[in-house]
Amino acid sequence: MTSGAPTDASSAGGPTTRFAPAPTGRLHLGHLANAIYVWGLARAGSGRVILRIEDHDRQRCRPEHEAALLDDLDRLGLAADEPSTDELRAGPSAFRQSDNGPTYEAAVGQLVAITDVYACGCSRSTFAAWREAHGRPWSGPGCPGDCRVRGLTRRAGLGLRVALGDGDESWDDLLLGRRAGPVALDGDLLVRDRNGNWTYALCVVVDDVRHGVDLVVRGEDLVDATPSQVRLGRLFGRPIPPAFAHHPLVRHPDGSKLSKADGATAVGELLDAGSTPAELLGLAAAQVGLIAEPGELRIGDVARLFG
Ligand SMILES: [Zn+2]
Repeated sequence: MTSGAPTDASSAGGPTTRFAPAPTGRLHLGHLANAIYVWGLARAGSGRVILRIEDHDRQRCRPEHEAALLDDLDRLGLAADEPSTDELRAGPSAFRQSDNGPTYEAAVGQLVAITDVYACGCSRSTFAAWREAHGRPWSGPGCPGDCRVRGLTRRAGLGLRVALGDGDESWDDLLLGRRAGPVALDGDLLVRDRNGNWTYALCVVVDDVRHGVDLVVRGEDLVDATPSQVRLGRLFGRPIPPAFAHHPLVRHPDGSKLSKADGATAVGELLDAGSTPAELLGLAAAQVGLIAEPGELRIGDVARLFG
């Protein structure tokens, strides 16, 4: 990697993990459940928590959402070891993805020397048409338009893919055990989308390497994305992947996933309505089964859930 970040956080005595919300809406109970796992696993292992603003998607993320998110974290007493919310409010930061475009560009530049990085003209409809014609979704390396051999010029309106190869990658999951899965689940990895955004798949791996993250704590909806991220990390010179902990999601009673549009679970509004931070943490912990019944849970006590 190019940023000179630490790469052996384990030598500090405990894991380095991160709380990494995307400012596409208000902080909700699902974020709180994630925070409990992040802070709990970090503190139980005498580790560190990094706060990262994952605003790689410039169409969906908004500065006002980030401002509200930072305020919500302060009101909840969720303080990362690095950076502080005030550091993020003060201006550009190594911990805000939109401030680090050159870092991602340089990372992709590194990949060019070791594998194929190619412009891709496929859209959702290209994938849909392939599925229609073949009776199953596209899977495996490449893309439906065979763009790897077309030699398209990189330009606005085209995506950018990295050939990660085929096969499986495996990892140790603190909550799910030893896991493995296919690297090219739905084609070669898209690292820049057609709107010019660096993708989550790229940014998260680049950031975890440069921030010295060796424990990734996130929702179980990202299990299938993990093998490609392990492989990408390997291409960036990380032979041993970070440990992962994929946790249950807060769901609606019908089993569907919470979304940012669910105003009833917006943390700021619940605080405004009189809920305390401890009540909200307790509610989130109960919803993912960490405690049997909703009750007060203080952030200083979450490590006990994982001790
Ligand atoms: Zn393509």
